[in-house]
Amino acid sequence: MSDHPSLDLLVDGDWLGPEGRTTEDVLNPATGEAIAALPHATEADLDRAAAAAARAFPGWRRTPAYDRAQILRKGAQLLRERVEPLARAMTVEQGKPLAESRAEIMIAADIIDFTADEGRRTYGRVVPSRVPGVLWTVRREPVGPVAAFTPWNFPGVIPSRKIAAALATGCTMVIKPSEETPSTVLAIARALTDAGLPPGVLNVVHGVPGEVSARLIFAPEIRKITFTGSIPVGQHLAELAAKAGVKRATMELGGHAPVLVAEDADLDHAIATLVQQKFRNAGQVCISPTRFYVHESLHDRFVDGFARAAEALQVGDGLADGTQMGPLANPRRVEAMGRMVADAVDRGARLATGGEPVGNRGNFYRPTVLANVPEDADIMNNEPFGPVAVTAPVASLDEAIERANRLPFGLAAYAFTASGRTAQRIADEVEAGMIGINNPFISMAETPFGGVKQSGYGSEGGTEGMDAYLVTKSVSQS
Ligand code: NAD
Repeated sequence: MSDHPSLDLLVDGDWLGPEGRTTEDVLNPATGEAIAALPHATEADLDRAAAAAARAFPGWRRTPAYDRAQILRKGAQLLRERVEPLARAMTVEQGKPLAESRAEIMIAADIIDFTADEGRRTYGRVVPSRVPGVLWTVRREPVGPVAAFTPWNFPGVIPSRKIAAALATGCTMVIKPSEETPSTVLAIARALTDAGLPPGVLNVVHGVPGEVSARLIFAPEIRKITFTGSIPVGQHLAELAAKAGVKRATMELGGHAPVLVAEDADLDHAIATLVQQKFRNAGQVCISPTRFYVHESLHDRFVDGFARAAEALQVGDGLADGTQMGPLANPRRVEAMGRMVADAVDRGARLATGGEPVGNRGNFYRPTVLANVPEDADIMNNEPFGPVAVTAPVASLDEAIERANRLPFGLAAYAFTASGRTAQRIADEVEAGMIGINNPFISMAETPFGGVKQSGYGSEGGTEGMDAYLVTKSVSQS
């Protein structure tokens, strides 16, 4: 596609094209067609990027937080002004409806604004000294050059959290976006560069994920790793970070969000909220509501209402008017949906709607609801990361909480109830990093995003999001 933005590397302020580098085709998931060629960084490019981030660090660190925030805020404003072409490129690479891509660019800008200002409010402490004549201060300093690895499902929001928090606190970065959806990170880098970001503060590289991450993690200049993606890859990268010199790491990994629908829930409100959340980005969301534990008195009505609403969704090319759910981002997900749905049905689940691909071009899959799914089905234990909701009736709140907590993940959870007491118990007892009770608003610029158990460690967003990029120094001075 000729109007697709040029996909380059950004190393030390230089935009580098395909000359002398191998390339990879970026595909449109709605058509399967190649839309652009992405150059891979050579080992020399990667080494140069890490060295550039290290060279830029002292100057960027000394730049007042106020001035860093000005550049970040100006970059955010440029993203807003460029929203139309950026959203279009995101949809063509990733598949999500254009309205979702537009919203994502605006949210990325919002995250950059909030985080830029949070950087100006990152203070230390003065600790009252027990020794006369001695002053104790606790400083929070930027950790240093960061290597960031981001996935294909939210090519704007996920990188913007990492880039903004690193740069606002005075760190520099080398980031590798997903090779499947690289244009948004490049657009963020372009906007920040146009806003006055000095060369080397933010570098963007592409390549074979395992090769790029190993080279950067072991680069002596890199002091911190941040990754969003699957649990197995997170485990691998955390191990490399330890071996490379006990480097700090933030891991935002998978989830398998339970939804507890209590006996007294407002069913219509629950269905309307959850259908929208489930099929947003075709379910390829780590906080997507997935395991629906519904009180037995409501279960069948819930399944009927949810399935009808799922069937009414318009599935199509994300660029087409009226599309509410686009294709899955890659053929791997279509294959995974087929496998997981077949396994659940074999084990006795009822297919209430969907359960098949759509058409013979692109990675389309029907919005799907599986009811009465047994706990031993693969889909009850492994994140589907696609447009499939699975339900099971439960007899009590105790049972719902126990089943919600039975997996080794804990990213998001949702609940619907009219009772303050039930809401409180769920808030207290469900093991998750984020819980939405009667609403879906759990991922905002100003609130922390992160999980417990195997869903990872470290928060992004909110005041907590700055901690990942700061080290603590205690000074005793007399
Ligand atoms: P995957 O596990 O191969 O890759 C997940 C992400 O990690 C991709 O962006 C990939 O580029 C990156 N990656 C893979 N190996 C890497 C390495 N050695 N170093 C650095 N980055 C590496 O699988 P996939 O097919 O792309 O996605 C499948 C699963 O990943 C999904 O089912 C979901 O569970 C998980 N996922 C989670 C998120 C999230 O937001 N937490 C995002 C995307 C994928």
